Amino acid sequence: MERKLTCIICPLGCDLTVKLENNTVLEVSGFTCPRGKAYAETECTNPLRTVTSTVRCSDGSLVSVKTDKPIPKEKMAQCMARINQAVATLPIAIGDVILEDVFGSRIVATQNNTGNA
Ligand code: SF4
Repeated sequence: MERKLTCIICPLGCDLTVKLENNTVLEVSGFTCPRGKAYAETECTNPLRTVTSTVRCSDGSLVSVKTDKPIPKEKMAQCMARINQAVATLPIAIGDVILEDVFGSRIVATQNNTGNA
């Protein structure tokens, strides 16, 4: 089996071709750097995604958040369910951990929120 992918690691967007057999990568071609080869191998065997969203704060405002490392793509909906149920306690600074251990990642704030806005 052969899969065609566009590398999403950098703006160059190399066209990648992956030869697979029984979910095992046999060969990757089209990459310009090793990051593209690694992306293709992971995307075809265990695709990962960084999740970005917002969490409700204790005063009703929102704070933007993201996973601090990529999680399995198949867990994104469950990750969003955890994020949607969370309530962050103010004040919040960039990098504060909002949720621990969400499919091997932490949910961290990507903006400050003092609650005075
Ligand atoms: S293979 Fe390397 S150069 Fe090409 S898009 Fe991916 S990261 Fe960028």
